[in-house]
Amino acid sequence: MPGIYLHIPFCKQKCHYCNFYSLASLKYRDVFVNALLKEMHLRNDYLQGKHIETVYFGGGTPSLLSIDEINRIVIEISTLFHLDSQAEITLEANPDNLSPEYLQALKSRTAINRLSIGVQSFFDDDLRYLHRVHDGNHARKAIEAAKQTGFDNMTIDLIYGIPTLTTEKWGKNLSLFFEYDIPHLSSYALTVEPKTALQVLIDKQKLKPAKEDETLSHFEILLDQARQHGFEQYEISNYALPGFYARHNSAYWLGGHYLGLGPSAHSFNGHSRQWNVKNMKQYIESETVDRIVLEKEVLTKSQQYNEYVMTSLRTIWGCNAEHIQNVFGEEYVISFRQKIHKYVEGQKIVQKGNRFTLTDAGKLFADGIAGDLFVDKG
Ligand code: SF4
Repeated sequence: MPGIYLHIPFCKQKCHYCNFYSLASLKYRDVFVNALLKEMHLRNDYLQGKHIETVYFGGGTPSLLSIDEINRIVIEISTLFHLDSQAEITLEANPDNLSPEYLQALKSRTAINRLSIGVQSFFDDDLRYLHRVHDGNHARKAIEAAKQTGFDNMTIDLIYGIPTLTTEKWGKNLSLFFEYDIPHLSSYALTVEPKTALQVLIDKQKLKPAKEDETLSHFEILLDQARQHGFEQYEISNYALPGFYARHNSAYWLGGHYLGLGPSAHSFNGHSRQWNVKNMKQYIESETVDRIVLEKEVLTKSQQYNEYVMTSLRTIWGCNAEHIQNVFGEEYVISFRQKIHKYVEGQKIVQKGNRFTLTDAGKLFADGIAGDLFVDKG
């Protein structure tokens, strides 16, 4: 399921918790779009003529692009690649950009058929803590306008574990989400990433850190509510009604190939992983692939295996011992079966035939369990 990821590195202001590459200025917007199109030309053989089934405008804030810019990008993709006529084309959007006029134009004049709105919370004090540009009113208005415009395939992001977010408020955030009848939710615990404003402010004791026990209780409430409303947790942070799994993200988790365009974007073609330069000036001035792609890593078999374990364990599909046997060989499947045994015994993992998936208790320790299953053969 090959896809194209486009990193649109502009934001109105930097959110305190964010460690994605983006600039809080639109100074380079025009030249950036031209550079993005140029990169597409330079790298149009990366996916070796495969049909592109998903396109994802991420960032940054892709909804800062104009309708014409979005169209230029999609048209260039369909000229240079085999873009499937049924492709899922997602735009990440911030609520404050989603005026009824913009949404109408997105729906009627572009190929965008899936909208991902960065709501995070419906409460102003949580949004202030996160240093988001929008407020709760923007979030509600944007969702209502998107629904009225006819965006049925929609997802929102909600963050839990924010110190200002009480359990009662978290329950209200979830109730509002379910009331809006949106078919997909991405929900993450607030994490304090190194070198973010949030880390500095917490270190200086200007902001409170999240309480771990509250974060866990929010996660448990989320699991319970999602289940009650018929949502499937198809990845640890992603919940959908049947038929609404994100195709682009599912492909990442299932080892699909993708070309990442734009500063800081990653690409993967099955055996190597590449990282684009994280610098706007250098990106727009680059005339060759070698100057855009900063780093390239050819993955060893054990690295590929570790990635498979890490991503698949977090999904509804789980780790498949038969797949490990077929793709990585006997040695790997023996190690996998030996190591996973204690988690099955301890009810952190459930086994159905060759498939091993996390139980609710196991989901709380997903990264640790995956790390324990890793092999280190260089
Ligand atoms: S809008 Fe998104 S990408 Fe931009 S700073 Fe906030 S979290 Fe980061």
